[in-house]
Amino acid sequence: MSESASTSFPQRAARAIKDEFLQQALAIATTRFVNSRNEVFQAFPQGEALRDRARQIKEAVLQRLDHYLEQLTDNVERLGGHVHFATTAEEARGIILSIARENRVELVVKGKSMAAEEIDLNEALEHAGIRVAETDLGEYIIQLAHEKPSHIIAPAIHKTKAQIADVFAKELRHQVAADPEVITRLARGALRDKFLQADMGISGANFAVASTGTVVLVTNEGNGRMVTSLPRVHVALMGVEKVIPSMTDLVVFLQILARSATGQKLSAYTTLVRGPRQAAELDGPQEFHLVLMDNGRVKQLAGPLREALYCLRCGACLNVCPVYRQIGGHAYGDTYPGPIGILMTAMLRGNGAVKDLAHASSLCGACAEVCPVRIDIPRMLIELREHLDREKIAPWPERVIFKTYARLLGRPALYRLAGPVSRLMQRPFVRQGRIRSLPLLFRKWTATRDLPPVAPRTFRERWGELERER
Ligand code: SF4
Repeated sequence: MSESASTSFPQRAARAIKDEFLQQALAIATTRFVNSRNEVFQAFPQGEALRDRARQIKEAVLQRLDHYLEQLTDNVERLGGHVHFATTAEEARGIILSIARENRVELVVKGKSMAAEEIDLNEALEHAGIRVAETDLGEYIIQLAHEKPSHIIAPAIHKTKAQIADVFAKELRHQVAADPEVITRLARGALRDKFLQADMGISGANFAVASTGTVVLVTNEGNGRMVTSLPRVHVALMGVEKVIPSMTDLVVFLQILARSATGQKLSAYTTLVRGPRQAAELDGPQEFHLVLMDNGRVKQLAGPLREALYCLRCGACLNVCPVYRQIGGHAYGDTYPGPIGILMTAMLRGNGAVKDLAHASSLCGACAEVCPVRIDIPRMLIELREHLDREKIAPWPERVIFKTYARLLGRPALYRLAGPVSRLMQRPFVRQGRIRSLPLLFRKWTATRDLPPVAPRTFRERWGELERER
């Protein structure tokens, strides 16, 4: 049983907060991402208008998703590729497994793909006797460490350099210095043979352009190019929402994606894949398959999480989130971490799966501020909490407390009375001007911090006094 299946979110979060290595790794990486993102946007005044434009494009795509998917399918097939539609994760795995079996695949090289993580593709391939080699450096590290990604774009963000050197020493039987250049050189050497031996390459897709049938990969390591061009079969797996209308739209997204993700003006590699190798081309696969995956997305076109389908998976909302920055990605317990991850988990597994996670946000709004397509994550989280309450998924004490509070706020006379009553009730608990521990249901509020007592006078009382003094 995985750790996330056997522990609760509060337990995982508490453990993450106590993990000094994790705290150190998270602080360094997220701070670097946030600073770079802010600097690059400050020097790019047109960025704000492009974010608005990108949002409009995403909304326009969702309004005619069927049309753009049909257009994409026609164009991929015109180029000699095959298009498959998977309604569920199981179907997507089944499609990819049968392509692998038909082609007698023994070794797969993979580019980074959150969609593949979403459907546990590696496990399915390995279960079928097919070896899988991750080729993105971060993914390679966590594959060696037998872990899952903890960030959308930086899967090994939770590891320090020293920890990575230890993993290499243990798994590759090769002592290495805790130096990124040395580690990268070793990984490159280990992966080169795999690229040459692999029968199949599997990638995700950052975008797919409907009008041309082009699948677009945005990477920094060049492994995406090798995965899509060296093996004889290439399979690209993408969520249906990744389709965009035209190359002109692609230019809009490319200008804001890397800036939001890593603070780069553009990623080092932007790979455009157009079907299998054509007659006059020197490289490329003999077969190209595009798997378009629904897995709960289409239902949200008319659902409360519709806006989450705009997501570009840049990871910017994770880097600024005060909760993610403390607990990292594994504590969320599912494929997608961070604020957008809570919404994605609700989309993929239903509201019951985020009963605790829905509260893993301070609703500070930092995520919405940096999101390149301006997804209003805090609004959706509040609505999600409301659904949990309405569907009676939230724990009963929470429902009782918030119902009582709502009644109090809705009745001015009761609200006015709440001040003096609270002052009276808190008396036994106030010590030296602080509330250090509360009993029963309120115990957790004071388990790790003191609370300030209710003020001796409310704002209204103070205001009244000031008015009288004038
Ligand atoms: S929600 Fe916005 S900021 Fe977060 S990963 Fe998606 S596009 Fe990036």
